[in-house]
Amino acid sequence: MLKIFDTKSRKVVDLIPQDGKTVRMYTCGPTVYNFPHIGNLRTYVFEDLLRRAIKFFGMNVYQVMNLTDIDDKTIKGALAKKVSLNEFTEIYKKAFFEDLKTLEVEKAEIYPAATDHIDDMIKMIQILIDKGVAYKTEDGNVFFRIAKFPGYGALSHLNLSELKVGASERVRSDEYEKESVSDFALWKAYEKEKDGDIFWESPFGKGRPGWHIECSAMAIKYLGVTLDLHMGGVDNMFPHHENEIAQSEGCTGKTFSKYWMHTEHLLVDGKKMSKSLGNFYTLRDLLAKGYKGREVRYLLLSTHYRTQLNFTFEGLEAARSSLRRFDDFILRLKKIEAGIKDEAEHEIEIAKKGFREALSEDLNISNALAALFDFIRKIHTFIDNQKLGKESAEKILHFFKECDSVLAIFSDEEESAPKEIQEKAERRLIARQEKDWKLADLLRNEIDKAGYLVEDLPQGFVIKKK
Ligand code: AMP
Ligand code: ZN
Repeated sequence: MLKIFDTKSRKVVDLIPQDGKTVRMYTCGPTVYNFPHIGNLRTYVFEDLLRRAIKFFGMNVYQVMNLTDIDDKTIKGALAKKVSLNEFTEIYKKAFFEDLKTLEVEKAEIYPAATDHIDDMIKMIQILIDKGVAYKTEDGNVFFRIAKFPGYGALSHLNLSELKVGASERVRSDEYEKESVSDFALWKAYEKEKDGDIFWESPFGKGRPGWHIECSAMAIKYLGVTLDLHMGGVDNMFPHHENEIAQSEGCTGKTFSKYWMHTEHLLVDGKKMSKSLGNFYTLRDLLAKGYKGREVRYLLLSTHYRTQLNFTFEGLEAARSSLRRFDDFILRLKKIEAGIKDEAEHEIEIAKKGFREALSEDLNISNALAALFDFIRKIHTFIDNQKLGKESAEKILHFFKECDSVLAIFSDEEESAPKEIQEKAERRLIARQEKDWKLADLLRNEIDKAGYLVEDLPQGFVIKKK
């Protein structure tokens, strides 16, 4: 059974989908006006871990991730480049999917874009107006009337007076004429200077939807009135998710989401990594420095999602060496020959249990990885002492494949050396068996000069790139 920390109830609870089989989850997606930074990617990588863990625990997943292609930043970007909104956002949608692929993030079932769902948003806004939960101003803006939604603040555990302080800090130039400072925009009236020729027609006049209603409309359209799980970064909790609840429940009268989860931030020097602070790295920046996607994935993944993670290059180097330990181990297992006494069975069972239990406890990745590293240490000793047979080696490889269905960090490709290096290593092995140490050393030197290391094993050798 998979247990998660539900932000709304603030409890660790069993994740049980409403139909008992498929977790229908909504994950707030990117605003496509720029390349995502690795802070954003931390959230998506965790959502991927969760998605994979749900399947590991025998359930199905139906995941929706929206693409926010309508907001102040995308409109500003399109106008500055003098291209259509779609032309502008297309570049960043593409880049986003490339990044997900590099990080081995599985595809969600559907990625709806706001521009394709204006009618759904308009319908929802109209229902809210009809119910008196929303109101239109003379300028053609539509606001949500927070006074009509007494449950407001239940997710972020803030009371309304605190929220008013928070909300007043967030008042933007296009949010005026409101009855109350906490009321938020559902529809923003068209302003030529700001919006150029980007607008949609609606019963409330020309304009565009607010960011929050985009998520409510698309979540309900694809997942039904009550989702199983809704998640995003912790900065989304207030006001975005609080507003999503108000709009959705104001409209349907039903609970919007059974569970809520929030990922903590990626920091740089103690501050949230963000575009506005300029303290960010994109995945592309790190790839250009020679890091691999799976190294970045490991770094983002290996700290529990409810703990802040400070980004450093030392951390990235540590991720690299942790992966190397896994790779070396897997490579060594693949070379195990038959016919040696086998005593590892019990250790495999312990590791399987440790990994599974850690994951089941609100995805305690640090404990899950620690269980694997413990296991690796023990098995290396078994191999050194010739106590691991081929059958166990294969079982371990199979177990690691299972782990990797959740982690997606292991490399499939052996670090294959060129053919002539392989041949030299083979000749060196024969020389050693024939106790021709001089030839063996000569060949080792040649391999070394070519940039490879040959390591001797009880049953042969492995070649590694230096
Ligand atoms: P945005 O494109 O700004 O709407 O953000 C997309 C997702 O990334 C949201 O779920 C945010 O909560 C999340 N996010 C933004 N900054 C960070 C950060 N520094 N660390 C982790 N997640 C973040
Ligand atoms: Zn959202």
